[in-house]
Amino acid sequence: MAASHRRCYAAAMRSLFLTAAALVAAPVAAQGPAKPPKLIVAISVDQLSADLYAAYRSHFTGGLKQLETRGVVFANGYQSHAATETCPGHSTLLTGRHPASTGIVANNWIDQRAAREDQNIYCAEDERVAGSNSKTYTVSPEHLRVSTLGDRMKAADPRSRNVAVSGKDRAAVMMGGRAADQRWYWNGKAWASDRAGATPPLSVQNVQKLSAQLFASAQDPLEVPNLCAARATAYQVTPTVSVGNGRFARAANDARAFRTMPQFDSLTLALAASLIREQKLGQGSATDVIAIGLSATDYIGHSYGWGGQEMCLQMLNLDRDLEGFLAQLDQSKVDYALVLSADHGGQDAVERLRAGGNAGAVRADPGLSPADMGKLMAPQLGLSGPVLRGDGVSGDFWLDRGIPAKDRARVLAEAVRRYKAHPQVEAVFTAAEIGRVGVPSGDPSRWSLLQRVRASFDPARSGDFYVVLKQSVSTVARPAAGYVASHGTVWDYDRRVPILFMAPGVKPAAPAAAVDTVDILPTVASWVGLELAPGSVDGVCRSEAATCL
Ligand code: ZN
Repeated sequence: MAASHRRCYAAAMRSLFLTAAALVAAPVAAQGPAKPPKLIVAISVDQLSADLYAAYRSHFTGGLKQLETRGVVFANGYQSHAATETCPGHSTLLTGRHPASTGIVANNWIDQRAAREDQNIYCAEDERVAGSNSKTYTVSPEHLRVSTLGDRMKAADPRSRNVAVSGKDRAAVMMGGRAADQRWYWNGKAWASDRAGATPPLSVQNVQKLSAQLFASAQDPLEVPNLCAARATAYQVTPTVSVGNGRFARAANDARAFRTMPQFDSLTLALAASLIREQKLGQGSATDVIAIGLSATDYIGHSYGWGGQEMCLQMLNLDRDLEGFLAQLDQSKVDYALVLSADHGGQDAVERLRAGGNAGAVRADPGLSPADMGKLMAPQLGLSGPVLRGDGVSGDFWLDRGIPAKDRARVLAEAVRRYKAHPQVEAVFTAAEIGRVGVPSGDPSRWSLLQRVRASFDPARSGDFYVVLKQSVSTVARPAAGYVASHGTVWDYDRRVPILFMAPGVKPAAPAAAVDTVDILPTVASWVGLELAPGSVDGVCRSEAATCL
C-alpha cells in the first residue's frame, strides 16, 4: 500500500470516527422540541407592522425582549396578499393558507345575490340566521373555507382543546376556526361568545367583572416615560382632530375610548391567562391550542397613526403585559411553545409622514369611491341608477347587478379606463385578469402586484375589478376622530409583519429571510408532529424554527 494511500485511508477512518462520535453525541437535530409541547400559544398583535416592531425593538425590555432572546425572530415576515385587512390576515395565521383559499377576501364583501337589504357581508357573520346583516349579526366561522391549527389538532386527537380570545370577534373566529371549545371576544360592552354554554367559566366571569368596573370608570392621562415624550409632537389632521401627544385619558362608559387604550390588551391577556389556568390548558393528555388576538394596537393605530406618543405608550405596555403573561406560563411549568405575529401592518398618519419628508404621502381623493365614479359614468354610458358598488376608495369594486348583460363589458372597460387615468391609481385588474394567474408561492418580497391581488382573490366573493392606489396614498380619504390612518393596501408597509417563534429546543436566531405568515402552520405542525396532507397548505415549514418533517 503506497504511503499516500495509507494516509488517505487513515484520514478517512478518522473522519468516519469523528462523524460517528458526533452522531452519538447529538443524535437529534437540535431545532425544535424533542417531544410535542402540551400547549401552543398563538398571539396576533393587530396592526403590528414590521416597521413598528423595528422602531421599538431595541427599547423592549419585557415580553417582546424575551421572545427575541429565547426565540427566532423573522423581522421580515409577510402577510403576502393584497387585501391587508384584519379578517383576511387572521385567516392566514393558523391555517397555512392564503385568503384565496380561506375565502376571507376582505373584512366585508358585497354579495348582490343576497336576499336581504344590506348586501354587505361581514366575514365573521352567519348569513343563514334570519335578519342577519353586516351590523347586527350572529358571530360564526361559516365563511372560513379551511381548517385552523386547532381544528386539525382536534381532528387528530379529540382530547386536544381549542381556545380563542380576542378584542375582535373576527380575529377569534379566524384563528379558532370551526371546532373551538371556548371562544371569547369583546362585543363593544362585554366579553361574549358564540360557543359558550349557559354559564361562562369562572375565569371569564372574573375578567368580565373587572372589565365592567374599568368600563364604568374614567381614566386619568397615563404617565409618559421620556422615550414616549420625545415623540409627543401634535399634528392637526382636521380642524377638530389632532394626534401625536395623546395620553389615553377617558370618560366613563366611552366604548370607543375603552378599546382604544393599552389596558384593553391587558384585559385580553388576563382573560387568556385565566382560561389557561382554569381550564388546565397544557395539562391534559393531548396538546391544546390557545389563540390570542390583541386588538388595541390596531385601534390606536387607526386613531392616532403609529409614529406618535400614543403608539409608544401602547408598545411599552404591550411589552410589559407580555412579560407578565410569559412569567405566569413559565411559573405554571406548562410545557408550551409560542408564536407571535400580526394580521397586517399599517401606514402612519399622512400629516406626520409629510413632516418627516415623505412628500408622496397624501390622502386619497374621495372621488375614487365607486359611488362617485359611477355617477360620472352613468350619463356618458346612457345608464340610470347605480353603476358601481363597493366600500372605500380602493380594493374590490363591483358592477351593479342592475346593469344589463349586454352593457356589462363596456361598463367594465369604462370603469377600468377611468380608474387607470386617475393620478393616484397605480393599477387596475379585472377579475378575469386576476383569475388567469396562479396563486403565487415562494419569496413574497418578489411578488408582482397582480400576484399579491391573486393571493386574496376568490372568484365567488371578490369584485369585478380591483383598484390599487399608488404607494404612500392613504386609503383614509376623509379622516375623523378615531380614524386618521389605516392599512389594506398592496404595499410593504401594510404587508410586512414580524413572525416570532419560541419553543423548547429552538435556538435563538434572527434570520433575514422573507417568510410568509402561511409558513406558521406548517412550522408549528412540525413541533407537535401534526401531519399535513400534501397540498393542504400554501406555506412551508421554516427549518430555522423547527425540525421540519
Ligand atoms: Zn387588523
